[in-house]
Amino acid sequence: MVATEPVVLESYLAGRWVRGSDAGAELVDPVTGEVVALASSSGLDLGAALRYARDVGRPALGALTYAQRAALLGAVADALQARRDDWYAIARRNSGNTKADAGIDVDGGIGTLKYYAKLGASLGEAKVLSDGAPARLARDPNFQALHLGVPIDGAAIHINAYNFPSWGLWEKAAVALLSGIPVVAKPATATAWLSVEMVRAVIDAGVLPNGALSLLVGSVGDLLDHVRFGDAIAFTGSAETGERIRSHPQVRGAGVRVNVEADSLNATLLGPDAREGTPVFELYVREIVREMSTKAGQKCTAIRRAIVPAARRDAVLRALARALDAVVVGDPATDGVTLGPLVSAGEARRAREGIAQLAAAPGASIAYTHPNVPAGEAFVAPTLIVAGGDAAIVHDLEVFAPVASVLTYTTPDEAYALARRGGGSLVVSVFSDDAAFLAQSALAIGASHGRVLLVDTAIGDAQTGHGIVMPSCQHGGPGRAGGGEELGGLRGLWFYHQRTAVQGPLPVLEQLAAQAVNPYTL
Ligand code: NAP
Repeated sequence: MVATEPVVLESYLAGRWVRGSDAGAELVDPVTGEVVALASSSGLDLGAALRYARDVGRPALGALTYAQRAALLGAVADALQARRDDWYAIARRNSGNTKADAGIDVDGGIGTLKYYAKLGASLGEAKVLSDGAPARLARDPNFQALHLGVPIDGAAIHINAYNFPSWGLWEKAAVALLSGIPVVAKPATATAWLSVEMVRAVIDAGVLPNGALSLLVGSVGDLLDHVRFGDAIAFTGSAETGERIRSHPQVRGAGVRVNVEADSLNATLLGPDAREGTPVFELYVREIVREMSTKAGQKCTAIRRAIVPAARRDAVLRALARALDAVVVGDPATDGVTLGPLVSAGEARRAREGIAQLAAAPGASIAYTHPNVPAGEAFVAPTLIVAGGDAAIVHDLEVFAPVASVLTYTTPDEAYALARRGGGSLVVSVFSDDAAFLAQSALAIGASHGRVLLVDTAIGDAQTGHGIVMPSCQHGGPGRAGGGEELGGLRGLWFYHQRTAVQGPLPVLEQLAAQAVNPYTL
């Protein structure tokens, strides 16, 4: 699917494809700067779109059991799977993705749908969750309490970042739809083309009930003015936008639940035992290079801070420079290219400014810049920075590009303190063959990270990667990472359910318990 004229993107709202009233924002091919699509939400009736989702989609999904909804997810995945080549082509043109990058986004999205299709089937014929068995409240054993999870009574509003127009859309939609909640998705404008075409394929396949899935392209407009109690907002993007959404008067006033997945200064620690040349040292270097290259470093989970023993700093820098030299930066349409451009010239400019700020911090310096980078404005050279002694900026400024900083420690406590200075991150990884150090690290820094990846030589090839979000594991982190929790297998369903303690006569509670499914006992 290679368009020559810009595609005018349409939103799918209230069961119809509709266009904004003006020309809208330009979506570009970051390699050439060519405009590939236009997106506008001007003049669209977003209040009506939300009402349609609640009034039509919610009852239709609510009538189905978890297993029936899980089957819908499987059908959505099948409809998408059939056109993978088209999705890859759009990801290359509108996001500058290499084939491997597009795979993470496209296949990651389809894979997450399939995962929830399978997991959801295990919930069977129930439509409500239970959390534990009835528990006695008084001397009379007939009066007890049962915690139920009842699906919320509204729509799920999903606002996504530009780096995952497929995965971001489907990982959120899978969990909401399985819960019985209709989705109104708003992809980031810059890369919305892929989201639009994927949603169109699903709508055309006719596999979802009316109102179950809506899509808004272009700016968010007045969407949030129309939320009401019972809706839920799941947001992924910058901390600043997350804060704006949280503090929106209607969101706050109506008590709408909000999940925020924001930016993050993820760290990776090299254990004191990992000497140069050991397999675990090599694994560490490979992981950092992989994180810098994949999606050109535009991953919220990417490694931004490498924390290494002071005595190993130069060895780590040497090994990283060698490995980064082998990365091929260029047009993802060219064979052999392993690192493409950033999503736009504007983002690249922002990244270059960020690199300059990191390098200008007291005691900091640039340790490596990739020597062969094409001239296009959207390309950013893979860059390593050595952070200065006590500089704060390295723990605060997320440069969303193939950029990482190296910091040093002398004692494990110092390493943990540095990791925590991220102020709450999505993920931290620790590389060591010392089992005691790995376990101690998980406890020492677990509270400030949503996920902790421990790697020794034995699991070196099996481990799924620092930056890869597995649907079975929680995604989200505390503090500046937004405090959100997504995925995590069936744990993710709770965001779309109200936990309610039902107190009453035991026979009634037993009846309710028999209709519910306890996700923790599956
Ligand atoms: P962004 O500028 O915050 O935008 C994110 C989304 O919010 C877009 O869909 C955007 O729409 C929308 N938006 C903008 N202003 C809004 C408002 N006032 N109310 C409601 N929605 C609004 O972030 P981005 O530049 O797309 O993404 C990059 C950032 O996302 C990075 O900081 C990265 O770390 C973070 N991120 C986090 C995760 C995670 O899971 N934690 C994953 C990926 C990315 P428009 O595009 O139309 O402006």
